[in-house]
Amino acid sequence: MIKKKSIWYPWLTKLYKNIINFYKKKNYKNINIIIKYKCNLGINILILKLIKWIYCLYKNNYNICNKCLNCNLINKNSHPNFYYINCLNKKIDISYIRKINYLLVNSLNISVFKIIYFRDFIFDNFYINNFLLKYMEESSYKFMFIFSCFDNTNIPFNILSRLYKFKINYLSEKKIFNWLINNYNLNNFSYKSIISSIRLSNNSPLSSIKLLNNFWYLRLTLLNNLINIHKMTIINIINFLDNDYLIINLYWLSTIFIDFIKFKFNNIKNLFNIDVIYLFNYFNNFLNINNSYLILNKIICLNNNIKNIFNINKNILIYEFVCYFYTKFFDKG
Ligand SMILES: [Zn+2]
Repeated sequence: MIKKKSIWYPWLTKLYKNIINFYKKKNYKNINIIIKYKCNLGINILILKLIKWIYCLYKNNYNICNKCLNCNLINKNSHPNFYYINCLNKKIDISYIRKINYLLVNSLNISVFKIIYFRDFIFDNFYINNFLLKYMEESSYKFMFIFSCFDNTNIPFNILSRLYKFKINYLSEKKIFNWLINNYNLNNFSYKSIISSIRLSNNSPLSSIKLLNNFWYLRLTLLNNLINIHKMTIINIINFLDNDYLIINLYWLSTIFIDFIKFKFNNIKNLFNIDVIYLFNYFNNFLNINNSYLILNKIICLNNNIKNIFNINKNILIYEFVCYFYTKFFDKG
């Protein structure tokens, strides 16, 4: 089910209009499109509105009525001619192909226009790619494929050549900051904290607000532990890290050590964490540049091992990491 159906974000408007203009220019014929993005900017909201615009019975210019039968059925994800395939964190299998086939070929209304939306599609299955290609080459079916995917997704050339390409542009830090403070009550957060949250979220305003609202207190706990690391024992650090938030803490730790290395080279303009200069000054009392590299490398390895190795003994890895961290952090040699 697609959520957040009535929400709209201002940065989507230009692309929404561009795609509609393009669709009109193509005389509403079968077109297949791909929309790429670099970070979470509300791709589903954009695509859902485009699909509603295509089906809406009372559309007016770029506007949709959001009340007609078609708009309502799309809102409920039960429109008979629209099929949503969510590939986010999962691969599509043959059962989806059967459904697509049924929708396009075997359904009673073969002459009715259909839309199939593949969210976060990864073009890594040769057979599924060929199946999709076969349909895209066949002009007798009335349908539109819409793909969304991350910017760095590899798309086979024969598929890419049959798609019209669009992209949601990156937003500037200033634009994101203004949108955040105009739309949310962020009085409890400093300017530097908000900018840090934007940078830690890869310039996604949606991830940034989620981070501030739901996880910022965890980051503050991590920072509080780091500034008191000289008072902590190895067991204290293990107890702090070994919980459900290990992955997010490791991500923040890696950004802090990357930043500390930049700090060591006086490159403070491009820090992720611009709100923790005090911490880098504190680290400077203990940590040399070589040990900073070694600790950063260890954090990244631990993160990869925990995420990618099935059934690994997490506790032993954390124990090993913390012993290493502790030794290197306080190693003056
Ligand atoms: Zn409508």
